[in-house]
Amino acid sequence: AIPLVVAINTSLAARNGMLVRDRIAMEQARNLDTVVFDKTGTLTEGEQGVVDIATVDGIDEDEALALAATVEGDSEHMIAQAVREAADERGVSRQTATDFEALKGKGVRATVDGERIHVGGPNLLSEFGLERDVPRELAAFADRAGENAQTVVYLLREGERSEPSNRAIGDAASREDERSESSEMRAEAKRHASREAEPIAAIALADVIREESDRVVDALHDLGLEVAMLTGDSADVARAVADDLGIDTVFAEVLPDDKDAKITELQERGDLVAMVGDGVNDAPALTRADVGIAIGSGTDVAVQSADIVLVQNNPMDVVRLVKLSRESYRKMQ
Ligand code: ADP
Ligand code: MG
Repeated sequence: AIPLVVAINTSLAARNGMLVRDRIAMEQARNLDTVVFDKTGTLTEGEQGVVDIATVDGIDEDEALALAATVEGDSEHMIAQAVREAADERGVSRQTATDFEALKGKGVRATVDGERIHVGGPNLLSEFGLERDVPRELAAFADRAGENAQTVVYLLREGERSEPSNRAIGDAASREDERSESSEMRAEAKRHASREAEPIAAIALADVIREESDRVVDALHDLGLEVAMLTGDSADVARAVADDLGIDTVFAEVLPDDKDAKITELQERGDLVAMVGDGVNDAPALTRADVGIAIGSGTDVAVQSADIVLVQNNPMDVVRLVKLSRESYRKMQ
């Protein structure tokens, strides 16, 4: 039998727009130390729009947008939708592409006109060791966008490396090593060398912070809780949003598979942690958290991984949840 207090508790929660899938989590909410929010789609509306494009010499904006929309043609990511929409609005037509590939938490790639083209964020740049090697005009554009909390994705064109790599060749000893390389190692080195890519454009996208987010953070602070943010987006954007909202801790550029490890990190500090998210990428973190909270309009996977679902998609209900849990507990004593 379900204890009476818990039953009252869950029906009260239901009346407040919360679907309680795990009653223990509902009870634990009163003891939370930290609430971690996903950024995109949770603290923000999650509706991105392309606001600006920068290109390197020799590439024009429409050309870059057409190419980006082509490569994004197969992706359901919000960024992909925004890029395709912008291309349609500008009336630039997509080309044909093959071999679409999604790079979880990084971007997408496809072959267009015999060239491998990539679209993605900072995590994609890291894959090619390009974090510090973005052409000056694109880096300046990205800095400006970051300051305005805009997300930047880059368009990379993969090409054969024009000159042989000299990274490993420094002294006589390493040249000696090279001569003794097996053909397998040389093939591997060649494969790697051929994966050199060049940034040719950057696209800035703007999202809007949800109207309620500011009050949610303040209210959680008033309840004595710490607030953190966990996102795959760039450190710049994350910082700008966190500063705007007064968020205490920021985890940015986190790959989907590493999101739950950040929750563990906080738990190992001794915290009882809630995670609030909406995306497929948030599912492992929602499962790992002591209290997993999904935005109702979020993806099925997120909803199924959560202990509590916010049916009205209002992050303010996180505050109501903590209060309700505390009040119910007081009545129980
Ligand atoms: P979040 O944690 O903000 O919901 P994701 O884990 O889905 O984000 O993606 C992390 C980052 O990877 C994005 O901010 C973006 O830079 C890049 N990315 C992912 N998918 C795409 C895509 N289809 N097109 C371009 N960039 C992408
Ligand atoms: Mg999200």
